[in-house]
Amino acid sequence: MKVHEYQAKALLQEFGVPVPRGEVAATAEEARAIAERLGGRVVVKAQVHAGGRGKAGGVQLADDPAGAEAAARRILAMRLRTPQTPPEGIAVRRVLVEEASEIARELYVAVTLDRARATHVVMASQAGGMEIEEVAAATPEKIVREWAHPALGLQAFQARALAFALGLSGDQHRAAAALVQALFRAYLARDCSLAELNPLAVTRDGRVLAVDAKLGFDDNALFRRPEIRALRDVGEEDPLDVEASRFGLNYIKLDGNVGCMVNGAGLAMATMDMVKLAGGAPANFLDVGGGASAEQIENAFRILASDPSVRAVFINVFGGILRCDRLAEGLIAAVRRLGVRLPIVVRMEGTNVELGRRMLAESGLNFTTADDMGRGAAAAVELAGQAR
Ligand code: GDP
Ligand code: MN
Repeated sequence: MKVHEYQAKALLQEFGVPVPRGEVAATAEEARAIAERLGGRVVVKAQVHAGGRGKAGGVQLADDPAGAEAAARRILAMRLRTPQTPPEGIAVRRVLVEEASEIARELYVAVTLDRARATHVVMASQAGGMEIEEVAAATPEKIVREWAHPALGLQAFQARALAFALGLSGDQHRAAAALVQALFRAYLARDCSLAELNPLAVTRDGRVLAVDAKLGFDDNALFRRPEIRALRDVGEEDPLDVEASRFGLNYIKLDGNVGCMVNGAGLAMATMDMVKLAGGAPANFLDVGGGASAEQIENAFRILASDPSVRAVFINVFGGILRCDRLAEGLIAAVRRLGVRLPIVVRMEGTNVELGRRMLAESGLNFTTADDMGRGAAAAVELAGQAR
């Protein structure tokens, strides 16, 4: 789960990470009032669940309250398009108005999970403010890492080493080491999957300050973090994702036109490969789970069918706990109830497969059955192409 920058900053501040003073606004007038309270130069920042806002015009400096109002009006009217948003961009519904910082240097600090080392890694770089993926690809030596000990956590000497790697000394070094430890404590205490400050700024008057903050949370820990769940902004999420999460379906929207419905994550990956191999592109990843019920099948199907880019559906199911006849029953009921017209290719295997196939064939609905995965994928890709 992601949260907005203003929410991330409020949370990090509780743990002692220094952030600029600021407040969130939903209208240009509110932005003006906040700028009046803050006094002086401010920065107005689009609050969306995507980075890269600066280059897209979503971060604007203003000298006075009137300027802040105008900047907020421009940003709130935007559909922000960045490399991290869908191609059509996302509407901006709120802005963060903050005291502007006089930035002398832009640094980078982040905490995330290193799966290979099975512990948390803290990364620091003097090449902050830019796309860290590019730094990692072109000049990996510019990123310094320290791994937290599973039991001892991030130790003081490691935080100091990271602060040195940021090129800091004296008071700034002490401040940065404390900040890194505060960031790590927040990350751990709130079950984050990512805590990133880019940039972490050194200001002209010598302070070390989180100018940008991004937090991601481990969805599997949300059950024990009601205060984090309360920060969820479903308005920022794809409506189909929200729907899928309600029914415990593992759904990820992709760019293609073949809707895929599969039980089991491994089978889902293989199915997407087969669709690609057949020259097509999957519209989604959808795992209904090994023990899906007929009801989950119906919900999954409804989500697939309501995606306008889907031209054909490929259902690839191994009937184990979910028997093939129950699957067929669920599908037939769903197609009838939803009045789906899309071509549907069904490849199923396992318990009661003969009965399931017969039910589909006798239903009089638009099902094509395939007896193996490769032929099923090819048929779905072809039907999706014809529907274009
Ligand atoms: P992002 O582009 O979505 O990552 O948004 P950021 O919050 O990182 O802002 C992008 C860039 O805007 C930063 O790298 C800074 O160069 C600049 N910026 C942001 N806030 C301030 C500020 O208070 N003062 C100044 N001078 N620049 C800022
Ligand atoms: Mn940033």
